[in-house]
Amino acid sequence: MTTADGMPPTPPVPPAHAGPPAHGTPPGGDGTATPTPGAPAGTPAARVAGLTKTYGTGDARVVALDDVTLELYAGEFTAVMGPSGSGKSTLMHCCAALDRADQGQVFIGEQDLTRLKDKDLTQLRRDRIGFVFQAFNLVPTLTAEENITLPLALAGRKPDQEWRDTVISAVALADRLDHKPNELSGGQQQRVAVARARVSRPQIVFADEPTGNLDSHSGAEVLQLLRRSVDDFGQTVVMVTHDPVAAAYTDRVVFLADGQVVDEVRRPTREVVLDVMTRMTAPVAVND
Ligand code: ADP
Ligand code: MG
Repeated sequence: MTTADGMPPTPPVPPAHAGPPAHGTPPGGDGTATPTPGAPAGTPAARVAGLTKTYGTGDARVVALDDVTLELYAGEFTAVMGPSGSGKSTLMHCCAALDRADQGQVFIGEQDLTRLKDKDLTQLRRDRIGFVFQAFNLVPTLTAEENITLPLALAGRKPDQEWRDTVISAVALADRLDHKPNELSGGQQQRVAVARARVSRPQIVFADEPTGNLDSHSGAEVLQLLRRSVDDFGQTVVMVTHDPVAAAYTDRVVFLADGQVVDEVRRPTREVVLDVMTRMTAPVAVND
């Protein structure tokens, strides 16, 4: 078995100052420019328009998303950053059809999610969206391999054997595929969760702080797995992170504050991301 498509068991951790080892071809040049219209990667895999979501009423009312309009480009790795409570998870959940907004639209490809009935939304979520949670959320009674292929089993779909093998080999867990989650490290569990998110060949994969529970080495392995899914397979990935080093693996960082998009950086480096974060949090106290 070749490991050409797989992840090396001990990939080098990029030096903290150097950012990610390998970017895909940037669509819009460097700097902070918005993508060039008509550029190859300028097709949105998903987009939201005027998205607003509030929680609670009266004094307890919180505006989690405040008229957000954003395109998430196909074949790109996008990071979403912002202070705690800025609406990152709410945005992910609305985009991934795990939650509904109050106003505005969410498109996956050409499909407007806000027009779908619950049943169709469930099917779309299963067939066209992958989701990676911070806490892995594997099924404890299933093996690693069974967890990876669970979405196919639930959909009653016969697995495309070649794709299934490709996704599984990328996890670089050949000798642990018959282990249960509690017999795997956090990093191994999260790599299984990434494979589970990819196995149905979704149009887009969302990941909400996928490295939040991991040490930096395990986190780097997960980030490289996500990066390769973009570079080698054209997967579209959108990831929430607090970590400027993690953000430096991506093609583009979108910054949220108080439920609004406030900034964007292309070809991010750790330094540039840190700089924006510092500017964003300078006027007020950091709240976590
Ligand atoms: P982030 O992921 O950036 O930390 P969230 O999207 O989780 O932010 O939350 C945005 C805002 O919405 C926060 O003020 C949070 O307290 C509030 N919020 C999120 N989920 C709920 C909920 N289920 N009920 C009430 N308020 C919520
Ligand atoms: Mg969150």
